[in-house]
Amino acid sequence: MRHEFPVTKTTMPKDKPDTDTLAFGNRFTDHMFLMDYNQERGWHNGRIVPYAPICLDPAASVFHYAQEMFEGLKAYKTSSGNVQLFRPEKNEERAKRTCERICIPTLPDGLMVEAVKALVDVERDWIPDKPNTSLYIRPFIIATEPFLGVRDAYNYMFIVILSPVGPYYKEGLLPTRIYVEDEYVRSVKGGTGEVKIGGNYAVGLRSEKKAHEKGYAQVLWLDGIERRFVEEIGTSNAFFVIDGEVVTAPLTGTILPGITRDSVMTLLRSWGVNVSERRLSIEDLYEAHREGRLSEVFASGTAAVISPVGELCWGDKQMIINEKRIGTLSQKLYDELTGIQYGRIEDRFGWITEIE
Ligand SMILES: *Cc1c(COP(=O)(O)O)cnc(C)c1O
Repeated sequence: MRHEFPVTKTTMPKDKPDTDTLAFGNRFTDHMFLMDYNQERGWHNGRIVPYAPICLDPAASVFHYAQEMFEGLKAYKTSSGNVQLFRPEKNEERAKRTCERICIPTLPDGLMVEAVKALVDVERDWIPDKPNTSLYIRPFIIATEPFLGVRDAYNYMFIVILSPVGPYYKEGLLPTRIYVEDEYVRSVKGGTGEVKIGGNYAVGLRSEKKAHEKGYAQVLWLDGIERRFVEEIGTSNAFFVIDGEVVTAPLTGTILPGITRDSVMTLLRSWGVNVSERRLSIEDLYEAHREGRLSEVFASGTAAVISPVGELCWGDKQMIINEKRIGTLSQKLYDELTGIQYGRIEDRFGWITEIE
């Protein structure tokens, strides 16, 4: 199905940010996508309008019971000026599963991708073209019905906003220091760890703050029941290279099925690397490190693509990984993924959607 959305252009375009000093997520473009849901009409009135604050009733249920979901992807400008998205249909599929998990009415098939394409097309001039800059895309849905009773809401809003972002690493891919979280947990089987909702982020903030105060960039989450098995790094998926085997946590309901995670596994397998989705305990990880068998640790996600880990702190134990230098596989994955995203490397897997 093709969806057409009316466009109301802004009469007050903003100045574009200086692409040399772009950070992450603090500047927004001139327009946004809005769409409403009510019980009579379902999803309707998709439209592109000038970027502006939205007006909500203080009783809107999103404020009280957190019925909210989101996605994150990027638009990239190639050296020939083309604009492309990376696997946007995967974001749409995941959004559908997230909506189902927290009782948000799902969007019509294809609508999220069409809305993203239409909005990015309007905001082409906002896509920075310096190396490793991009346009971050944030689609999200909130429950807007003014009602304090506890049930799924009758009214929602689907919104897409865009933010030009700079290179995640200003000084190149610097390995990070990570703190193994042994006090709090982010997710348990049967909970919401496998879907993308704001609530998951709120519960992780305290650990992240604690890690920052101790001088670490992020936390490594352990499973919520035994507090033993490695799951995610902050809000990214985690990979461990032991004896040449690349290990990542399996999708058993507690970790977010990252699109970068899936792409990493596909690339590694295409290179003949042994990849396992299996449980890995922090004890076994430490043992592998002590015996010199742990060669690389990295995180994967849309924002940073690949983030190498140089040091893991587990209680009073410290693991220095690959002498705090980026590993061979981490670097190769970063180069390959960004190469495909920016159109420098052939798209052998059909991952790219061009915006005509
Ligand atoms: C978004 C997210 C990721 C990464 O997913 P990508 O699709 O690769 O961006 C990983 N973990 C969590 C908790 C997330 O929210």
